[in-house]
Amino acid sequence: MPISETFKGRLFPTLKEIAEHFGTPFHIYDETGIRETGQTLKDAFSDVKDFREYFAVKALPNPRILEIMKEMGFGFDCSSIPELLLSRMAGGRGEDIIFTSNNTSPEEFKVAAADGGCILNLDDVTLIPKVPELPEFIYFRYNPGPRRTGNAIIGSPAESKYGVSHEQILDAYRTVRDRGVRRFGLHNMLISNELDYKYMVETAQMLLELAEWISKEVGIVFESVNIGGGLGIPYKPEDRPLDIHAMAEEITGLLNQFEKRNGYAPGLCLESGRFMTGPHGVLVVKAINEKNIYRKYIGVDACMTALMRPAIYGAYHHISVLGKDSDQEHSIVDVVGSLCENNDKFAIQRSLPEIEEGDILIIQDTGAHGHSMGFNYNGKLRPKELLLRMDGSVELIRREETVNDYFATLNFEPLRQAQGS
Ligand SMILES: *Cc1c(COP(=O)(O)O)cnc(C)c1O
Repeated sequence: MPISETFKGRLFPTLKEIAEHFGTPFHIYDETGIRETGQTLKDAFSDVKDFREYFAVKALPNPRILEIMKEMGFGFDCSSIPELLLSRMAGGRGEDIIFTSNNTSPEEFKVAAADGGCILNLDDVTLIPKVPELPEFIYFRYNPGPRRTGNAIIGSPAESKYGVSHEQILDAYRTVRDRGVRRFGLHNMLISNELDYKYMVETAQMLLELAEWISKEVGIVFESVNIGGGLGIPYKPEDRPLDIHAMAEEITGLLNQFEKRNGYAPGLCLESGRFMTGPHGVLVVKAINEKNIYRKYIGVDACMTALMRPAIYGAYHHISVLGKDSDQEHSIVDVVGSLCENNDKFAIQRSLPEIEEGDILIIQDTGAHGHSMGFNYNGKLRPKELLLRMDGSVELIRREETVNDYFATLNFEPLRQAQGS
């Protein structure tokens, strides 16, 4: 979807100045928008007694952003040691953090248990004896296999490497119960970037039914069900936003019914990344070359290392040209980076206003899985990140990578010795 009118109103009037001051390319995130979405989530689920969002750190792993999440009362969903450390640096402790890993290593379990620990979300029964010290609070990630279909991005659960199978789930809880675990949660994440909220309601229903069954069979009570992330955002102008209020209302209804049947209801957790920050970031680039061969190409000063989604998912990101209206004269162009990969394109055969060298392009909805997915192939360096604060000031929250960063892990000693220096 085109950038929201409110974000545009905050950003566009000063964007030229920001670009001149900091230099392109950069991702810039909108603190106001992020906080508004956080409040929308909290309001939507305000009738759930115990609701908490655990921000999926991988979507936007920047300490300033995590600090904002912490201030809103959110926890952190982590799947790696650096994500655990970042969450703790942002003030997350114990139950503020849920560690949802897959194919987990001993080092990861060690760091998860350090510094006050965290909630462990185990991905397999064979991991139970590998946890050095089982924490008090354990989740299992459930994989329904052929019982459910996923959506296009995440694929069929039966082919997915995640989670504990239906056949193993009772044993999983029995085993940790017998080892002294006293607090239990149930987790599932089946979809990604889904705009139809019904999927999330189905997931909540499936987890609540499963929780009832496991409770009866194993004699435990569930403190929490976690329906994962995967809430979609409208990337295309014609996409309709996910109806978060309808989703929350129906899930609240399911929890109320559960309470009627069982005399209590578990808390509800979400692990949204994209929904929280996706629409509140843009990648700002400058047009530096134009090339006319069989197609017209606009070359910009960033490449897919700053935003992988178009190249790996064929994802659409809306683009506008600063100071040029969409009703101006158009041409059909591919907007491309400089990498030696033909899928290094931010847009393919897109109708855009006539672009001249030096024009600023705003590539939209890059606030989640944007910078964080970047890589360094071809020696391409990742851009800086800026935060547009509530008071209108702009803060550099990550500098751009330099050649020295890229060289930092290389061993140049043999070369130096050979050259006798
Ligand atoms: C990636 C991921 C999320 C966040 O997904 P979004 O699509 O950004 O909401 C949440 N939980 C888990 C376990 C994940 O792997």
